[in-house]
Amino acid sequence: MMPAKAEVVVCGAGVAGVAAAYHLVVRRGMRNVVLVDERPPLSLTSAAGTEAYRNWWPDLPMFRFMDRSIGLMEELAKESGNAFRMNRRGYVFLTGDPDCVPELEKEAEAVSGLGGGALRVHRDGGSYVPSQPEGLAQPDGLARPEGLAPDLAGADLLLDADAIKRLFPFLADDTAAMLHVRRCGWLDLPSLGRWLLDRIASRGGRIEQDRMEKVDTGNGRVRGVTLASGSRIETGRLVLAAGPLVPEAGRMLGLDIPVFMELHGKITVEDRASVLPPDAPMMIWTDPIELVWSEEEKRGLSAAADTRYLTEPFPSGLHIRPRYRDSKQTFLGIWTYDVTPREAVFPLEFDPAYPVIVLRGLARMIPGMRAYFDVADALEVDGGYYCKTPDNRPLIGPLPVEGAYIVGALSGYGAMGSQAAGELIAAHVTGAALPDYAKAFSFDRFDGLSDADMQDMRDATRGQL
Ligand SMILES: Cc1cc2nc3c(=O)[nH]c(=O)nc-3n(C[C@H](O)[C@H](O)[C@H](O)COP(=O)(O)OP(=O)(O)OC[C@H]3O[C@@H](n4cnc5c(N)ncnc54)[C@H](O)[C@@H]3O)c2cc1C
Repeated sequence: MMPAKAEVVVCGAGVAGVAAAYHLVVRRGMRNVVLVDERPPLSLTSAAGTEAYRNWWPDLPMFRFMDRSIGLMEELAKESGNAFRMNRRGYVFLTGDPDCVPELEKEAEAVSGLGGGALRVHRDGGSYVPSQPEGLAQPDGLARPEGLAPDLAGADLLLDADAIKRLFPFLADDTAAMLHVRRCGWLDLPSLGRWLLDRIASRGGRIEQDRMEKVDTGNGRVRGVTLASGSRIETGRLVLAAGPLVPEAGRMLGLDIPVFMELHGKITVEDRASVLPPDAPMMIWTDPIELVWSEEEKRGLSAAADTRYLTEPFPSGLHIRPRYRDSKQTFLGIWTYDVTPREAVFPLEFDPAYPVIVLRGLARMIPGMRAYFDVADALEVDGGYYCKTPDNRPLIGPLPVEGAYIVGALSGYGAMGSQAAGELIAAHVTGAALPDYAKAFSFDRFDGLSDADMQDMRDATRGQL
């Protein structure tokens, strides 16, 4: 059998690989691009996330990268008639501890200073502009705002507990302050994926369901790839977009890719008791949390060594957002209280206590969650691996084998960062001009660093959302 030929092979059709192929084919006009994936497109990590985005990053290259990515997604939203239901409801960071307000304000000032937009401090609710529920009402009569209004950036720090209560009556009574970051929201990632794949196909890009098993090299450069089916594709350029499986793909090139995995779960709960309004923004509790138990439950749990941890404070970062999909109103609850680095192992195994811990934690922020305590045990958990570098910036650019590239290590921001990642890798592959943040994501930035240096970097970036 004659081997097929391709200008570029992209290994992996998660959101990173699909965005890379879109930029190569549609924006850069390459014709013969083949996406190879052993699974259906966007069915591994990209199927399991929260699909949210934010322009709020405390690191300048990440801020510039994400600002560009959101800009590209906004362009696509316009071009497609918002086929992927991008919204701009914002992220709302909450605290129940008035002593934490100065820190919340200081962090917000820092991001604002990088270009995130103005920080507006409101001592009362009068001047604060809420997200407008301008989405079309669905058949059930409820509005679910989509689209890019209100056209606000920056953030609003609201310090009036009564005004917060009026805006979000479902929150705990002691909610003391909220920081509403505005150029944030979420989208429907499967719809974005379908729209991009249609565009790729209409310009001649192809997708092959197969597993890349071997990279053929000669004279130190990429010559082709061999697939599990036995077929071979001759190519001089290969982009690894293998998500959490990128260490294995790297080994096919004799490379050690400097990444580690964290397992992140989520629960999806059908909100039959209407606890979280369908028009709510993303809500994030920024204080450590004690799970909600009755006094009797607490006594029982703290009496036994293996359950005592359930009565002790858990780290901050618990978040929730509503999701309407397949005619069902649900909410997604996410809390990564265990960030132990690990290898990617499938099938995924989550802490059996995860759904109970998330719901009992959510009840601290939203007391109505008690409605689901009885069913918590039976809730399904899904999720995936954050594939991370030691500095938690992505890997996008050439690898040390000529013709090989990587777009990966997209951690917890692969959906929001996908467009700028695709654009950047396409610029590398085609030799186009690179943006200012390109260098910060290069593969060679870890050259010469010791394991201890890498560990220090990891510690410095731990706990980022
Ligand atoms: C719980 C959770 C919440 C998240 N929330 C958000 C969020 O709110 N916003 C956000 O932006 N991001 C979020 N993320 C992160 C985001 O989902 C990921 O960064 C993103 O999906 C990574 O995409 P990817 O294409 O790199 O990897 P994947 O989606 O894992 O795709 C990799 C693909 O490569 C294929 N592959 C690998 N090796 C081979 C091979 N040898 N041959 C053929 N195919 C191969 C796999 O089959 C797979 O389809 C979240 C993730 C999780 C787990």
